[in-house]
Amino acid sequence: MLFDTHIHTRYSDDSEMAIETAISRAAELKLGIIVTEHVDLAQPEPDVALDVEQYWQDYRKYRNEKLLLGIEVGMRTECLADNRAIIDAYPFDYVIGSIHFVDNIEIYQEVFYHNRTKMDAYSRYFETMLDCLKVYDFIDSLGHIDYIARYARFEDPEIYYHEFADWIDEIIKVAVQNEQALEINTRRLTSPAAVARLLPIYKRFYELGGRMVTLGSDAHIPENIGCRLEVAQAMAAACSLKVVYFKQRKPEWER
Ligand SMILES: [Zn+2]
Ligand SMILES: [Zn+2]
Repeated sequence: MLFDTHIHTRYSDDSEMAIETAISRAAELKLGIIVTEHVDLAQPEPDVALDVEQYWQDYRKYRNEKLLLGIEVGMRTECLADNRAIIDAYPFDYVIGSIHFVDNIEIYQEVFYHNRTKMDAYSRYFETMLDCLKVYDFIDSLGHIDYIARYARFEDPEIYYHEFADWIDEIIKVAVQNEQALEINTRRLTSPAAVARLLPIYKRFYELGGRMVTLGSDAHIPENIGCRLEVAQAMAAACSLKVVYFKQRKPEWER
């Protein structure tokens, strides 16, 4: 069964989706899903923080072959020990590691790009990702490597592999060494051109020894569940990468 491995519901501060709605939408689409609520520690607005205990206790009854429970950890070096403690304390099926904050700024905010060149802002983003990945050896998959391009305030926010090859290669090498998967986040795969821009990153992942990719829509609303998973599957195939999902922290191969 194909899994959409990146889904947010009402325990994420930016989603209002009920889990029952996600379950029925996934059933319509004949997809498995992994719920991956956000945990972003040390954020400036503590009131939006995830109550992991409540999330786990509330959702564990829904867990079955088609619905697994995961978490999307916002990676920050200063939160390493606290994040590790959460992952050690709960038997999640799957852990995504993502970069949402750089230098204590949520990078969807304009201020991160203010008076900055794209090269400078993106280099700092990739540097932060590299620093985190080196120590976050307990994540299963690196989430949305192209996240910054969703929000960057530049005329052309796209990530071109060749422009950031040195950073991206280092990140990939660490992921390979840690035996981590790379996520293909389908949010931005809206055109053949968008796919073509991201493909070199995944091809490079294979060249440097990576084998596993996870596919995730990053849905916050039911309509986006399973969105463009077939595009991501084709990307994986084009790079000879295997599509996996994680159950009890172990990769399961999609066939
Ligand atoms: Zn994210
Ligand atoms: Zn997400």
